[in-house]
Amino acid sequence: MDKITVAEARRVEAVGRQVRLRGWVRTRRDSKGGFSFIELNDGSCQGNVQVVAPGELGNYETEVKHLHTGASVVIDGEVKASPAKGQATEVLASRVERVGDADAESYPLQKKGHTFEFLRTIAHLRPRTNTFGAIARLRNQVSKSIHDFFQEQGFLYVHTPIVTASDCEGGGALFRVTTIDPDSPPKVDGKVDYTKDFFHKPAYLTVSGQLQVEAFACSMGKVYTFGPTFRAENSNTPRHLAEFWMVEPEMAFFDLTDDMDLAEAFLKRIIRDALTHCAEDMKFFAERVDKEVFARLENVLNNPFRRVPYTEAVDILLKAGKTWEFPVAWGNDLQSEHERYLTEQHFKCPVILYDYPRTLKPFYMRVNDDGKTVRAMDVLVPGVGEIIGGSQREERLDILEERMREQGLHPEGYAWYLDLRRYGTVPHAGFGLGLERTILFLSGMANIRDVIPFPRTPGSAEF
Ligand code: ATP
Ligand code: MN
Repeated sequence: MDKITVAEARRVEAVGRQVRLRGWVRTRRDSKGGFSFIELNDGSCQGNVQVVAPGELGNYETEVKHLHTGASVVIDGEVKASPAKGQATEVLASRVERVGDADAESYPLQKKGHTFEFLRTIAHLRPRTNTFGAIARLRNQVSKSIHDFFQEQGFLYVHTPIVTASDCEGGGALFRVTTIDPDSPPKVDGKVDYTKDFFHKPAYLTVSGQLQVEAFACSMGKVYTFGPTFRAENSNTPRHLAEFWMVEPEMAFFDLTDDMDLAEAFLKRIIRDALTHCAEDMKFFAERVDKEVFARLENVLNNPFRRVPYTEAVDILLKAGKTWEFPVAWGNDLQSEHERYLTEQHFKCPVILYDYPRTLKPFYMRVNDDGKTVRAMDVLVPGVGEIIGGSQREERLDILEERMREQGLHPEGYAWYLDLRRYGTVPHAGFGLGLERTILFLSGMANIRDVIPFPRTPGSAEF
């Protein structure tokens, strides 16, 4: 007797095998012929396996006929070819063991068709639904593709810190990490004295591993970091989380064009892998979540990404004859409405915008010869907007220091980072891809809260 998964039991090659299955009851239906059908799922795949539980089972009347949706079971039996449509196999049970019951009155997933909003309130149970099972498997596949893609190309996986004293963007939006008692903080000159704090200075949760991963790019060549990042900005949008996962490759001797080439190949690889290795889940998304999903992904796979300077994009938006919620002008940041117009309506394909105004972008992006723009690039995709942000980094010490001062930062606070320019500096580039934005893009899901297991957003850190 082999312990196998539902995914294995659903394959025709399993016919004839004596197996043990462990999982949760999706539904039970009792036939007039004195036996029952149990739809069993164990998370290994989208589909259930149908178990036929004969009336002869010793616990048929006492337990099997009372199995509720959500109950956990162990089932022994033989895999048979199924006479029913839409399934290759079924399992004829010789033993059904009820492991844990789920009360029919109170189990929240008793009925189908809950809204995503409701399911967020039971985030600990939603992985038992078709949609969230599919999302979990897709996240797993994308994470694997990320490692496969970089490992195959000789990148080194570097673990950058979660707690940091440097603010990568120089902006606000940081979560403070402290052991100071908020009710009686140590003070000097009326202000909290952070020299008495755990790290002897203010510390935060990282918004990006980039600065630290640059140190490894500038010694080992091609590297990437992949982990959680944190942003305390109060943006209650369907595309922002306070805690999200980001993969950040960083490459020595890469310029912006190399960076764009890599980003494009990377995104295409992720899409191809999802279509190949998550075919059943992708079909589910296309049927139940977003009818356009395959067309959108094929379009991205089969077209080169359009590379457009920021300045040209602003001209296009000004000539679009639209009224925008946020005004378009050279020097203004592009908002989601502008990004989506460019990729969904104007170019109708993924777009890489580059050479943004220096005032819009962080200090570490390389200044162009025009003095007005920096070697930044954002990758925009239909359905989501910005999915990748990256740049060629400023490798010239004097210009980097000047850019820090220009943005109100003290170069002394970044001495170690400046050392990378002081000793053996090299041109280098990198980018950050948001994992959850990628899952939104692949699945067609509308809200980023529904593509991460336990979302953290303003006012919400349940579970
Ligand atoms: P946006 O302008 O959309 O707020 P950003 O420019 O602040 O994003 P970057 O700092 O460039 O984002 O981060 C790189 C990538 O990380 C983004 O392209 C996006 O995919 C993802 N990302 C950024 N902020 C968030 C967030 N709050 N929640 C989820 N993903 C995010
Ligand atoms: Mn960005």
